[in-house]
Amino acid sequence: MAQHKPQNPTKPCKYCGEPIAWSRNLAPIWDGVMFCDNACKRRYNRENPPEAPEGFNLKGPAGQKKRRRLAAS
Ligand SMILES: [Zn+2]
Repeated sequence: MAQHKPQNPTKPCKYCGEPIAWSRNLAPIWDGVMFCDNACKRRYNRENPPEAPEGFNLKGPAGQKKRRRLAAS
């Protein structure tokens, strides 16, 4: 009987679908690995931006209208 080598697990990249090969380096974070490459991670996050936390202004100060006239009492 041939020796059965344990097959390294793979999982599809969340962005491009390419199989991500398990490696010793990835072992400690394997459960959290979702992308085959940092480029895929960046593209995915660009197309699927995480929900902004409350109070976080995506546009920044530039997106705010200047209010020169405040309602005076
Ligand atoms: Zn990928």
